[in-house]
Amino acid sequence: MRKIITTTIIILLACHCAIAQDMDYTKRIINDLCASDMDGRGYVNDGVNKAADYLAEEFDKIGLERMGRSYFQRYSFPVNTFPTNITCTLDNKVLEVGRDFLLSPASGNCNGTYSLQHFDLKDSIENILFDKYREGTNNYNNVCILKNAPKDLTYNNPNIEIKSMKSKLMHSISNTSSNKCELIFHDSVIHNTDKLNIKAQHKLIDRFNCKNVIGYIPAKKRKNRNKYIVFTGHYDHLGRLGQAIFPGASDNASGISMLLNLAKYYANRDNDYSIVFILFSGEEAGLIGSQYFTSHPTFNINNIKALINLDIMGSAEEGVTVVNATEFPRLFNTLTRANKRGSHLPFVKSRGKAANSDHYFFSEMGIPAFFLYSNGGPGYYHDIMDKPETLPLTNYSGVYNLLIDFVEKL
Ligand SMILES: [Zn+2]
Repeated sequence: MRKIITTTIIILLACHCAIAQDMDYTKRIINDLCASDMDGRGYVNDGVNKAADYLAEEFDKIGLERMGRSYFQRYSFPVNTFPTNITCTLDNKVLEVGRDFLLSPASGNCNGTYSLQHFDLKDSIENILFDKYREGTNNYNNVCILKNAPKDLTYNNPNIEIKSMKSKLMHSISNTSSNKCELIFHDSVIHNTDKLNIKAQHKLIDRFNCKNVIGYIPAKKRKNRNKYIVFTGHYDHLGRLGQAIFPGASDNASGISMLLNLAKYYANRDNDYSIVFILFSGEEAGLIGSQYFTSHPTFNINNIKALINLDIMGSAEEGVTVVNATEFPRLFNTLTRANKRGSHLPFVKSRGKAANSDHYFFSEMGIPAFFLYSNGGPGYYHDIMDKPETLPLTNYSGVYNLLIDFVEKL
């Protein structure tokens, strides 16, 4: 009898406890999406489409329905890429692309040896020297590295432009390419060096074919099937820059793993509304996948009760920030009340609107859409260190349980 009572208490406790999502599954998804054979889910070696195929398989295993004949919505856009190895030396010291320097995303080809001229324009003598230098030279084997230069001042070498940054190097994606070599060095690396040798080749792809991955779970009651709760997140990242891979663990393999956990949760339940999962590509290239979707929707997006976009779920040690909280205050109130009741996260911060992820084109159309990003953790972002080993996933369960509680109140 005592045993039965104990067992009953344990079951009751379990039922009232937070719902646990599967951390082994979470880590497997993140590791798979960040593995080197996914090539940083970018454009070199078709990495982003390998990720799309992988995610469609996961949708199938979970049991999500297709909206048409497949989970895919296809579209294309131009993108500048760097598919081959990049070599760079400063004073004969070999540098590591991604760590010591970057090519600007719109850079053209680089090929040559240059003599570096450093001028600190805060220093009056160097200022005069720079003016003299500008008047007197047309030697395009020289490159100027300007310190403390006004923003509009650039020294024009038609072949190459160099920026030196004190802050962290962060890569991004461009849809166009320039006809000059554009390099960004960390200040500590290029400081006081004299000779640069660089070789890098770009390739502008005019029409790169991409996919959004869409699956759903129909509402239990037929009359509610055309009312939707939508979860979104982007699965693309920055791909490769020559031999450097940007794995994008926090941005946004973490968010995708959360969406798949939620899909598994809702797939095994009778839901009041249809629950849709949209995994976008093209986000890092300028929200292109979500922009395409909102202008070519696969269901009536005016019937969306709420959309939750997840991007960067690496560590919610300091809770989450909600973009569009001030645009949809009643919905935000429901979210914060759910957080208080469940004690899920230490903070749910409010932020206004911002065009910084895939919620943007939805809320611009008046659709109630939140973008949640997590706060805390090591802060690796758009760099080669954003990999699974550096993800603490603190309060991952807190975000998961908060979202489930929130949707229940809608
Ligand atoms: Zn992102």
